[in-house]
Amino acid sequence: MIIGMAKGASREAVDNVVKRAESLGLGVQLNLGTDRTVVAILGSTTGQISTDVFAVLPEVESVTRIMKPYKLAAREFKGRDSLVSVDGVEVGGKRIVVMAGPCAVESEEQLMEAARAVKASGASILRGGAFKPRTSPFSFHGLEEKGLELLVRAREAFGMPVVTEVVDPQAVDMVARSASILQVGSRNMQNFALLTNVGKSKRPVVLKRGFSCTITEWLTAADYLLAEGNEQVILCERGIRTFEDSTRFSLDISAIPVIKKASHLPIIVDPSHAAGHYSLVPAIARAAVAAGADGLLIEVHPNPKEALVDGLQSLTPSDFARLMDQLRAVAESVGRYI
Ligand code: PEP
Ligand code: MN
Repeated sequence: MIIGMAKGASREAVDNVVKRAESLGLGVQLNLGTDRTVVAILGSTTGQISTDVFAVLPEVESVTRIMKPYKLAAREFKGRDSLVSVDGVEVGGKRIVVMAGPCAVESEEQLMEAARAVKASGASILRGGAFKPRTSPFSFHGLEEKGLELLVRAREAFGMPVVTEVVDPQAVDMVARSASILQVGSRNMQNFALLTNVGKSKRPVVLKRGFSCTITEWLTAADYLLAEGNEQVILCERGIRTFEDSTRFSLDISAIPVIKKASHLPIIVDPSHAAGHYSLVPAIARAAVAAGADGLLIEVHPNPKEALVDGLQSLTPSDFARLMDQLRAVAESVGRYI
């Protein structure tokens, strides 16, 4: 249930709502806006409680029953779009934020070269996996701590925030010491212990959509982060499993306007994992920007033929530079910029 307090409602009136909820064994989360407070009533029994219980209280203006399982990620909970700020780079505003770099950190030379190239073309955040969740236990799983060290070096050398994946709930604090943004991968979207710890870290987070998960499940997973008081959540559509096998996954382009309608959180798109092939990445990336994405997460490798992971879907630095020029034109046509 979402309770909208009247404009300028007193603290006492808000406290009354909180006390009433607590007396019913329900949790609350407050959104203290500048002129209006919104209270989310949390708990599995809210469905059995009449809205009148709250509507009758002083200075309560509206009580909306949210039939959807997510509450904190719902647009109704916050009257405006969320902006996520990462070391001075804002995600969710007019600027489209491009995060780019290799799938996996492989060596200092590879990472530095990738960072130099993506920065020169206008990317503002460097991506690179130090811990790689792989489908097979026999595949390369990343350089781990050494990879994190290299990411810190690249961040310092190029003045770019870095985004990197965390896979283990117990390793969140360790990864958060090096990462500007924590990435929760598609395979871990419903790893609730991981989400809770990433929420507690209060570090900006890219929450990738599980490739077999609905948008509702995705937003409900985002609630785990928000419930810990971490408001720095960026959603990332990266393609879902369908019957179509000519691409690695099917990018759900409609997820962009659906999320914009349902949620206040920013959404970025990863065209690389959706496409699975470098030749398809530019068209998907342009479409994402045209459809209203707040940013992109793109794999770029200095030498894709030699890449240890995902070389087929990685752009070369020159392909990336060309794509960035195209994206600037698309962004301008939809009233944004890169
Ligand atoms: C990645 O971005 O490196 C990655 C593994 O992506 P996903 O979780 O979307 O498969
Ligand atoms: Mn990859």
